[in-house]
Amino acid sequence: MEYKTNINFRKESLIKLLNAIIIYENEIIQALYDDFKKPAFEAVLTETSYVIAELKNTIKNLKNWAKPKRVFPSLLNFPSKDYIYKEPYGKVLILAPWNYPFQLSLCPLISAVAAGNQVVVKPSELTPKTSEIIVKIIGKVFDNNHVKVVEGGAEISQQLLSERWDYIFFTGSVAVGKIVAKAAAENLTPVTLELGGKNPCIIDETANLKLAAKRIVWGKFVNAGQTCIAPDFILIQKNMKTHFVTYLKEEITKAYGENPAKSPDFARIINTKNWQRLVDMIEPEKVIFGGQSDSSDCYIAPTLVEETSVESIIMQEEIFGPLLPILTYENEADIDAIITKYEKPLALYIFTENPYFYRRIIQNYSFGGGCINDTLIHFANKRLPFGGVGHSGIGAYHGNLSFDTFSHTKSIVKKANWLDLPMRYAPYKDRLPNIRKILRWL
Ligand code: NAD
Repeated sequence: MEYKTNINFRKESLIKLLNAIIIYENEIIQALYDDFKKPAFEAVLTETSYVIAELKNTIKNLKNWAKPKRVFPSLLNFPSKDYIYKEPYGKVLILAPWNYPFQLSLCPLISAVAAGNQVVVKPSELTPKTSEIIVKIIGKVFDNNHVKVVEGGAEISQQLLSERWDYIFFTGSVAVGKIVAKAAAENLTPVTLELGGKNPCIIDETANLKLAAKRIVWGKFVNAGQTCIAPDFILIQKNMKTHFVTYLKEEITKAYGENPAKSPDFARIINTKNWQRLVDMIEPEKVIFGGQSDSSDCYIAPTLVEETSVESIIMQEEIFGPLLPILTYENEADIDAIITKYEKPLALYIFTENPYFYRRIIQNYSFGGGCINDTLIHFANKRLPFGGVGHSGIGAYHGNLSFDTFSHTKSIVKKANWLDLPMRYAPYKDRLPNIRKILRWL
């Protein structure tokens, strides 16, 4: 139980983990490639370097985050000293998805360990090579009673969920998020649910269209669109559409060449089930770019879809793949009708030069987080809490908030004995008018 009480022990464990990840970085990158041809560049940018940065930041700040913080006392308690203690929850379960399988298993794990918990992590069964390397690294760094990796699919996950935990951290789909929330409710276990949604990307008539196209192509097609905060659909001012589509096509070709199947920079769909799910969403007559697919390689080209109806199949659920429907609007009422049709999304993006427009959108709609004139990059700032709202999730993490996520905040008042004001004690006699005056004054 040293991990619970000894901050230096936690810090040293994390330093060991950092060294192991640096040593095994190439194996991690290879595993991610073997699982779904994640390009090495994307593996470094979004997985290994991200985890390394998270570790460095945690190691650097751990002592400070874990320290009891003194806060200003209430005059009602005079004389006292008041503190906030950070206490590890105890046994933590982390369930991770496949799309960023290394990062989304390791980052919550790092914070759970930093906060002094015992951790069980279950990576996704759909990325077995990455799981294998996670098992190897965790086995080398941690004692099995401290941090353990359990491999397996839904059945194993449900077995784990039937046990009693002190905290559950889940990243994955809304449907499984509900299963997790129900299981957690059985023991009133607190949860973080990092889920998904249909993320709108709104472009108005003042936007820098060429730059918008470049940034949207990057944010949509990185990881072959299998990113929880990828723009799901475009909502563009009607008159701008033709121009914008031309830029989008140019940017896709610039990024992935004439035949993206041959590009080393374009990942594959995770498995044939998801490949089929995505192919079924494509209505060929609506495709204005791309549309090619190959089941033997789980390949789907970056695809642009001209869409006019929110009733179509592609507009029903989170796409989570390289298909980008483009819808148009004429006025803000059109935008409102489309956005309010869906549950609160995990992300929303606005491309505009008009501050009144983006302020209205931010004020009018509830969503996890987002960017003005870019995509995805809010994820990268450790000072910004990351999480959803409503159906896109419960809770948030990143930076010091991750440490707080895995800590119970315990409030302590240390009362002094040198003075004991008699006012609060019964019999109250005729003190009511005085106590009323004092309470109103405070
Ligand atoms: P998923 O919900 O299918 O799986 C996530 C985890 O739950 C896996 O470990 C899996 O084994 C387990 N699981 C699957 N079915 C289960 C069941 N019936 N009972 C119990 N456990 C079960 O999600 P996924 O397909 O791995 O990931 C894609 C989804 O995750 C997308 O919706 C995406 O938006 C979301 N996501 C969210 C974030 C975020 O940070 N908010 C990040 C990545 C992915």
